[in-house]
Amino acid sequence: MEKAALRALPSVDRVLGMPEAAGLVSRFGRAEVTAAIRAALAEARAGQGALPTAPEVAAAAGAALERRHRSNLRPLFNLTGTVLHTNLGRALLAEAAVEAATAAMRDAVALEFDLETGRRGERDDHLRALLCELTGAEDATLVNNNAAAVLIALNTLGAGREAIVSRGELIEIGGAFRMPDIMARAGVTLVEVGTTNRTHPKDYRAALRPETGLVLKVHTSNYRIEGFTAEVEGPALAAIAHEADVPLLNDLGSGTLVDLSRWGLKKEPTVREAVAEGADLVTFSGDKLLGGPQAGFIVGRRDLIAAINRNPMKRALRVDKIRIAALAATLALYRDPDRLAERLPTLGLLARPAAEVEALAQRVAPHLARALPDAFSVTVCTCRSQIGSGALPLDTLPSAGLRIDAPGGRVLEAVVRALRELPRPVIGHVHDGALVLDLRCLTDEAGFVANLASLSAAHGLA
Ligand SMILES: *Cc1c(COP(=O)(O)O)cnc(C)c1O
Repeated sequence: MEKAALRALPSVDRVLGMPEAAGLVSRFGRAEVTAAIRAALAEARAGQGALPTAPEVAAAAGAALERRHRSNLRPLFNLTGTVLHTNLGRALLAEAAVEAATAAMRDAVALEFDLETGRRGERDDHLRALLCELTGAEDATLVNNNAAAVLIALNTLGAGREAIVSRGELIEIGGAFRMPDIMARAGVTLVEVGTTNRTHPKDYRAALRPETGLVLKVHTSNYRIEGFTAEVEGPALAAIAHEADVPLLNDLGSGTLVDLSRWGLKKEPTVREAVAEGADLVTFSGDKLLGGPQAGFIVGRRDLIAAINRNPMKRALRVDKIRIAALAATLALYRDPDRLAERLPTLGLLARPAAEVEALAQRVAPHLARALPDAFSVTVCTCRSQIGSGALPLDTLPSAGLRIDAPGGRVLEAVVRALRELPRPVIGHVHDGALVLDLRCLTDEAGFVANLASLSAAHGLA
């Protein structure tokens, strides 16, 4: 910009004196607003455009502050078709759990204090009785997540010794959670038996020796081996382990507390069944099918749970009061299975009938079509949702959604981006050269439609 023109730029003080700036100061504080005005002026000075007026500088500073303060953790619309999406935070909590967590955040609670005796208590006590009641186990404990539950259980039962596991169950969950690596970090020597597709009782029996610390069974949650296969089921495996006097640890992964076939879903093994089959310890997640916050539960034999609680790792992996409060409220809902799907949002979404989702798609399709430039076509489509987080990988749920077709791949990418940049981001998935928004997880229809108003303003689409 020309020297003379630069002199005509408003000063920081003059912009700060604008009524627009006063509003910004009360929201963001004087220091931040002053810095944002300085930055907006610097940008105007460096640019080639027309000289901005003081209100224009204030508006530019306001927009920059708005962007800076917008949280990337703000709620979004998960229209990916994966209900328990690990990258999008997995389970949605029940209202009762949200309220319990909020109350525990605001005030002091008797986390490790026994209100009856006035003496020190245990933080696990808030959940122990409920977990035992719901699973039939003798005792229970909890840690930060299921990966931690597996780690501490392996370390407690098998440090310096061997753990026998079928080659068909040496899973990778995602990220860096691979069973062989976890075993190594737990100080346990892995003894693989059988083959990828077939493992027999004699394979386990042949591997058992004085160095054996435990037998491990892993629920192969995120894939399935089909065809010529054989695995040793829980009861038989428990018998084999107990003959040799070693414990059986069963990692259920997305453990569920109820039979899901009641809601039209395929049945997953329940924690109660795994306990009844004779597993000495069972581990499972809090934020998968269970529908609570992130946590890892370990239930089973009292002496083994006591040993886990004595393991120094326990302190490093423990759960805070906020999640314990939310977990207790979530687990309490399981006492009334009849109303579970109404109260646990994740279960409600999984059980949602396809016809209801399709009716929703019919209603919102015209709103999306109107918000997008004419070059894009929006059609109602059928699709299939996934449960996610490794549960029932092959059992997808019939669903419906909106399919957005664009004149070219680059343009489709622009819609994907524009939807992601909305005040409440919309995340779908690209399939078959089109963007599909699976509406199974859309419950705030009015909010979704209102959010689309910002789409036409989004750049890169016109
Ligand atoms: C998901 C899963 C885990 C890890 O649980 P997180 O709660 O994610 O820590 C471990 N084992 C199995 C079989 C799983 O499915």
